[in-house]
Amino acid sequence: MTDIARLKSALDGIRIEDNPAIVKQKSRDFFWYSPILKRELDHVTADLVLSPKDEAEVIRVLRTCYEMEVPVTPRGTGTGNYGQAMPLAGGVVLSLADFNGLKSVSRGRAVAEPGAVLANIDRETRKGEQELRLHPSTWATASIAGFIAGGSGGIGSINWGGLRDIGNVLRLRVVTMEENPRVLELTGWELHKVMHAYGTNGIITEVEIPLDAAYDWVDVIVGADDYMRAVAIADHLANRDGLLFKEIATVAAPVPHDYFLRHQKFIRRDQSVILLMVAPHAMDPLMALLGREKGEVLYRSDTASAEEKKGLPPVYELAWNHTTLRGLRVDPTITYLQTLHRSPGHRDSVRRMTEMFGDEVPGHLEFIRFDGNVCAAGLPIVRYTGDERLNEIIRIHEDNGVPVFNPHRYTLEEGGMKQTDEVQLAFKREADPKGLLNPGKMIAWENPDFDWKTSKTYLFPGLQPAAE
Ligand SMILES: Cc1cc2nc3c(=O)[nH]c(=O)nc-3n(C[C@H](O)[C@H](O)[C@H](O)COP(=O)(O)OP(=O)(O)OC[C@H]3O[C@@H](n4cnc5c(N)ncnc54)[C@H](O)[C@@H]3O)c2cc1C
Repeated sequence: MTDIARLKSALDGIRIEDNPAIVKQKSRDFFWYSPILKRELDHVTADLVLSPKDEAEVIRVLRTCYEMEVPVTPRGTGTGNYGQAMPLAGGVVLSLADFNGLKSVSRGRAVAEPGAVLANIDRETRKGEQELRLHPSTWATASIAGFIAGGSGGIGSINWGGLRDIGNVLRLRVVTMEENPRVLELTGWELHKVMHAYGTNGIITEVEIPLDAAYDWVDVIVGADDYMRAVAIADHLANRDGLLFKEIATVAAPVPHDYFLRHQKFIRRDQSVILLMVAPHAMDPLMALLGREKGEVLYRSDTASAEEKKGLPPVYELAWNHTTLRGLRVDPTITYLQTLHRSPGHRDSVRRMTEMFGDEVPGHLEFIRFDGNVCAAGLPIVRYTGDERLNEIIRIHEDNGVPVFNPHRYTLEEGGMKQTDEVQLAFKREADPKGLLNPGKMIAWENPDFDWKTSKTYLFPGLQPAAE
């Protein structure tokens, strides 16, 4: 048990929250997207939340918690999906939300503190007609360090690939969890030590990111009578070199009509859709192309009336993990998967899965650049009927050469490539020798002998027990 009184006196002056209801709320993320994680993690809570407002306070917290052997789980704004920011072994939630300044903006780059919300960064950089290259669909609420430590890509990935593509993050400042915490500046390949490591091996205290030219992106929704027709049009658009998009996604009927409630008036129930964010100067050529491809434009924000636009969320809040969120609001029994349809042949594998599962797994693809080629990341809805069938659906995807990044697991490895990330593990040995940072998330650290080829789920022995 954490000695809260001692911790409080040692960290006097740093904002501390120990009201159990608020601590529990700040110990949660969007883990409940998964019926499995909902069962496993619903009870998880920290002992208290600490909110440092600068790097010196982060160092004080880490030094004290190291000495007292208290687990520390960092948190941005808690929009992660797999219990990433949940303190499985209790202890401290380290909220970076108050440490949120934008330090500088220059041509092509910005430097921000970890808790800076992406929308706030963009509001400032837009004054100089620049914007973030990539952002998750949670742009309005997510923090920059949370995105880098927990996310993978999003709006903009059609041009820039994923966060982990070299060049999409320029520099990170990281504090270690040691007797005397060190402050490290990571660049180039070293960034991979902590990117998408769920904060298991260091606390990010500063981020330098590249910027792109800003546009007043036009939201466009295109309808198609057949899902594979929508996929073919989207793929065609993604491969047109003369057009500029920030987002290209497809969603299979009846999901758009049934779950995009505010856009429902534009979409027939049997229509699949292509969701687009288009640079204004690309609208005319896009319309010419859609005329030839026989894509029906259902909505475009640049010509919609004020009346039509009233109450509509932006298109990016229909895409990525917002598609699933909108579905869950209508039908809480659904869940989802995360897959990859590699190029070439991505349309063939999408077709195979579409034909195999039909409405049990309605399609949702995000077109992205991956190692220079257009391919499709899948976030299909799953009409969940039980763990056994869910696991079978995953196995069938994998047997058909479609990798699944399992969103129903809380460990880095099971949610990722199902192998040890030696770089992240080596850095954890160096930067968190007592294993106190976000415990339970890195199998390679917790149980080096665990054999994930047996397809057994890893259960963290330190997971706090649920109350009787
Ligand atoms: C509706 C919805 C849509 C989403 N869309 C996308 C999407 O398009 N693309 C995408 O990639 N993700 C997406 N996500 C997942 C999530 O929103 C993003 O990963 C988001 O950027 C996380 O930011 P956050 O501030 O909420 O991080 P949190 O959830 O607070 O944290 C995420 C991870 O980072 C760690 N962390 C936080 N701050 C630090 C720090 N300073 N140092 C070290 N580790 C830290 C946490 O411990 C945790 O493991 C979506 C989630 C939802 C619910």
